[in-house]
Amino acid sequence: MSSDPFPEHLDAIRLFARSGSVTAALPISRLQRFAEPLLDSDGDVAVDLLFGHDEEQRPLLSGSLHTAVRVICQRCMEPLELEIDCELALLVLSSEAEVQALQDEDAALDAVVMDPETGLDVLAVIEDELLLSLPLVAVHEETDCSDAFNAYKRKREAEDKEAEQAQNPFAVLAQLKRNDDPH
Ligand SMILES: [Zn+2]
Repeated sequence: MSSDPFPEHLDAIRLFARSGSVTAALPISRLQRFAEPLLDSDGDVAVDLLFGHDEEQRPLLSGSLHTAVRVICQRCMEPLELEIDCELALLVLSSEAEVQALQDEDAALDAVVMDPETGLDVLAVIEDELLLSLPLVAVHEETDCSDAFNAYKRKREAEDKEAEQAQNPFAVLAQLKRNDDPH
């Protein structure tokens, strides 16, 4: 998985023209609508997108999104970690009428509209897909919420400890530096 930062601006028209792809880490903090129901906007979404074409040469945006987020369990009101994995395959059409015609033909096909001049707001498409992947009511999977929450707490504590230990060498260096200071 690449950790390239997500580009500031994506030119979807050019990407489709050269069948480009984007593999990048998109900070959740850049997705305001998606971050709203979450406990925090820490972390990234691993984005893997291909700007290709279907067999009829229509632009087809496909790929996957993966992230882990924290929400409040609606049963015990304690934090709950959700893994989100979504696969997308969106036909990119030039008008709402075309989208309607396509869905009348086959309701299973997903499509979005791309303005031929301004292109496609790829960030908004990603955000919509992520929002659709969130469960309507998030609850711990186990019947016993407190067990699930305790496991979550242990994991977070272990992560915090790891982060603390990772910082320690710098704290020690800072201490040494202070001791060297003749003043
Ligand atoms: Zn719960």
